[in-house]
Amino acid sequence: MIRRITASLLALAACAVAQAADLPTSLSQGGLVIAHADPGSKVTVGGKLVRVGEDGTFVFGAGRDEVGPLVVVIRSASGQSQTQRLFVTPREWPVERVEGVPAKTVNPPPEIAARIKREQALVTAARNRDDDREDFTHGFIWPVQGRISGRFGNQRIYNGDPKAPHSGMDIAVPQGTPVKAPAAGIVTFAAPDLYLTGGTILLDHGFGLTSNFLHLSRLDVKVGQRVTQGQVIGAAGMTGRATGPHVHWGFNWFGTRLDPLLLPGIAPP
Ligand SMILES: [Zn+2]
Repeated sequence: MIRRITASLLALAACAVAQAADLPTSLSQGGLVIAHADPGSKVTVGGKLVRVGEDGTFVFGAGRDEVGPLVVVIRSASGQSQTQRLFVTPREWPVERVEGVPAKTVNPPPEIAARIKREQALVTAARNRDDDREDFTHGFIWPVQGRISGRFGNQRIYNGDPKAPHSGMDIAVPQGTPVKAPAAGIVTFAAPDLYLTGGTILLDHGFGLTSNFLHLSRLDVKVGQRVTQGQVIGAAGMTGRATGPHVHWGFNWFGTRLDPLLLPGIAPP
């Protein structure tokens, strides 16, 4: 009897935790969670301390290959600790064959390796910022409207050569289509001609959440500039490793790549 009461008390406690932190019980691979704890709480996800805003907001995501469960520990200012395990729903990752890619971007010549490494290091550094800014809380809009020509996470085979999974979502649009900021943010990287990604912009939405836009034909913003949701930041193109004009929209929680299609406001209801 006592054991049964204890069990139901525990169940009640678990419910209370879920409500206090509005955490879901599961998330998809590539999914983002925006949740709220009591202000002043400390939150760890998978043992890593994450930023908690003044209003208690915190965020985290599950990468493409995350198997979970993700253990979230919330310690309130008064010292009470609550633990929740989030199950990660596995997804299928179809194979996408991309033909007609410039050969020099599929297997770059060795003399280019140092350049690619340097460029990727700059992008990685921009993704490691952890700004106390909640530009992500107002939801997201599509940067361009068009057919999805490539999905997040799909196994990519370029000209018959298996490469890393696709890191974002491709939206096919005519060359020169204006690209809009999906949410407000600060431009943390802008380069007109990276070897693999061509015209490249990174927008920081706060708390380690960043958008990247690749293969652009034109950049309309500079590093350090603040942009509002819907503001035009550049134009679609096919610079770098691309076979036709499109916008590649990638989304990260620090180094973890997430699926833009699962973001609030983007995902179909
Ligand atoms: Zn892409």
